[in-house]
Amino acid sequence: MQTLLEQSDPQISDIIDRERIRQNTTIQLIASENFTSPAVIAAQGSVLTNKYSEGYPHKRYYGGNVVVDEAEDLAIERACNLFGAEHANVQPHSGANANMGVFLALLHPGDKVLGMRLDQGGHLTHGSPVNFSGRFYDFCAYGVHESTEQLDYEEIANLAREERPKMIIAGATAYPRAIDFAAFREIADEVGALLMVDAAHIAGLIAGGAHANPVPFADIVTFTTHKTLRGPRGGAILCRDQYATAIDKAVFPGMQGGPLMHVVAAKAVAFHEASRPEFRDYAASVVLNASALANALAGHGFRIISGGTDNHLMLVDLRPFEVTGKVAQECLDVAGITTNKNAIPNDPAKPFVTSGLRLGTAAVTTAGMGEEQMVEIAELIATALRSADDSSVLAAVREQAGALCSKFTPYP
Ligand SMILES: *Cc1c(COP(=O)(O)O)cnc(C)c1O
Repeated sequence: MQTLLEQSDPQISDIIDRERIRQNTTIQLIASENFTSPAVIAAQGSVLTNKYSEGYPHKRYYGGNVVVDEAEDLAIERACNLFGAEHANVQPHSGANANMGVFLALLHPGDKVLGMRLDQGGHLTHGSPVNFSGRFYDFCAYGVHESTEQLDYEEIANLAREERPKMIIAGATAYPRAIDFAAFREIADEVGALLMVDAAHIAGLIAGGAHANPVPFADIVTFTTHKTLRGPRGGAILCRDQYATAIDKAVFPGMQGGPLMHVVAAKAVAFHEASRPEFRDYAASVVLNASALANALAGHGFRIISGGTDNHLMLVDLRPFEVTGKVAQECLDVAGITTNKNAIPNDPAKPFVTSGLRLGTAAVTTAGMGEEQMVEIAELIATALRSADDSSVLAAVREQAGALCSKFTPYP
């Protein structure tokens, strides 16, 4: 396939080659990224991309869907089995679209929604004023406790009693601790709210048994398929049967046209991979690696937000090193370590600068790294950030990062 591309479009072919080299030779610590399997990539790069399949299996608007119907049926069945859900919609093109589908199905414009503060770990689609969610719905927000830097369920309950939201959203994009879904259910029941869990980040941990499953507690669960779940880039919605018709109508024709059948097939492949016993070992290793990385970074003098991690990610307070998140991200990029700057709770710095880094271990664990390598990575990060303006130190770290990656290459 790659040679065909090389012949017809050498420019794009070269870009793909160089991106593969970048992924193979530098350390990937972005908490929302992973390395999909060659099987997922094969399904995604297939002729299924040619098919128009507006509608749902066995109820399509165009002909010729008998074969691809089987792919979507399998994806739905596998998603339901993997998470123990009554109904699944596997068509959302992304996590943001999955959330949009839920809001469109279950809310009216102007309805009140309680979600997590964006500057303390919530997602853009949980009420940011620059996002459709913040423009069309009336969001109010809970944060983390000032001293523990963890969710404070008593405070969330008080806010819910005051605000009487129609829907409560649990789930985050930068929260390193386990989420207590039973506590959220109790709060939602007390105030008569729907409970939606946005499990975008932790879906793979849930599938692999390394985080509690929200499905028994939530009315609706959305997730992305490309983060810890390690599938193709995309989204999905799980719900109770009573919401199935409304959810399906909201996704199509409510907000999307034809589904990406090549991606739906790749989601089915990923669900199958995640149902295997090896994936349970993978999820457990991701969490062990995150703890090991957080501990080792703390040993070098970094402050770990909330004192540690229960999942695949951590938030690092960089102020002890007197570098901003922006500078740290840039200098680690030079040093061959890919990260993202991230606001920490009550961050004094501006959102584009920040005082923190968000690091995750889903990708490096897929590449085969273990706790020993996490200690080495922490050392590399500390060395780079102690000499953030010394290009010879950064070059030396880059060399060591490359040597480490040569033993753990995701796409040899
Ligand atoms: C990543 C993420 C999303 C959005 O996923 P996209 O596929 O980037 O649209 C939604 N919610 C949460 C909590 C996320 O972390």
